[in-house]
Amino acid sequence: MKTIAVLTSGGDGPGLNPCIRAVVRRAVKKGLEVYGVRRGYSGLIGGDIISLNSRDVSGILGRGGTFLGTARCPEFKDIKVRRTALRHLNQRSIEGLIVIGGNGSLTGALELDKMGYPVIGIPASIDNDVNETDIAVGVDTTLNTILESIDRIKDTATSHQRAFLVEVMGRDCGYLALQSGIAGGAELVLVPEREGPPMEQIADEVVNAYVEGKSHCIIVIAEGWKPGTRAVEDYLKKRADLGFDVRVTVLGHVQRGGRPSVFDRTLGSRMGAYAVDALLQGETGKMVALRSSKLTLVPLADAVRTLKPLDPEMLELADMLE
Ligand code: ADP
Repeated sequence: MKTIAVLTSGGDGPGLNPCIRAVVRRAVKKGLEVYGVRRGYSGLIGGDIISLNSRDVSGILGRGGTFLGTARCPEFKDIKVRRTALRHLNQRSIEGLIVIGGNGSLTGALELDKMGYPVIGIPASIDNDVNETDIAVGVDTTLNTILESIDRIKDTATSHQRAFLVEVMGRDCGYLALQSGIAGGAELVLVPEREGPPMEQIADEVVNAYVEGKSHCIIVIAEGWKPGTRAVEDYLKKRADLGFDVRVTVLGHVQRGGRPSVFDRTLGSRMGAYAVDALLQGETGKMVALRSSKLTLVPLADAVRTLKPLDPEMLELADMLE
């Protein structure tokens, strides 16, 4: 193998740049030519592919986002469209591809592998919803961003004796809510994986916090939890007996940005370099995974079969610490 390409696809997050940088630098050190595909699978279909050398990835290590850009590209599910993508790769004599992204992007990578094209995936998803790996690139920084926000919210909540509903990202997966709830000392965590308690019980938690003498009450809610943050807000605001005023903060896209943490820079760098080595060893259809601090390869098919479930021990811990 003499020439490879790398792309970032799907949801963005911190740690993608360190990952691209490591792919490029490892590949160059191994004597390979490297290309970067702009805007994920869209760029692959459109032939938006640029040559990269070690200097092109200078200065990106500490920057959030992805300098290659990313995109959603639903057309890529169509095999005819994927054939166009392979044509662009073959026209440039690119013999292997590294896909950095979440479940959707890795499913796309698996489809390319099934078409006989050598592909290695790297899990990057702030939700930590990719199976078969302990953690994905971007999770750690995002959690730290959320935690900093919760700490700040607690300061103001305490000053004013308020209950805060803090909505964090996670349409299908409550990992961010659960972990930040534990680390941020939330009174209650609401995640899509678990049916929510009735509104009366949520109100009881707020009242209990007041009666116990707490100066605030923090409820962390994943955006995908039903019936949703607004429903809790509406209910609690109708109750005159809470003891606390109720406020809502939706953290939104600040969670996706920011300088990658030490952990994400290291993980992205390790996984990027490992993916290049895997391609050179003739591996394909695999994803780089972190298991008990060690990198390994797992079949892409296993990684994307289902979303990664929440750890029941963590759920229990969150309940216990309320
Ligand atoms: P993420 O990779 O963050 O999970 P998405 O789920 O939006 O983000 O997926 C990103 C892209 O991956 C999609 O826009 C599409 O181009 C590609 N993709 C998703 N599912 C498939 C599939 N079943 N077959 C081929 N490509 C897919």
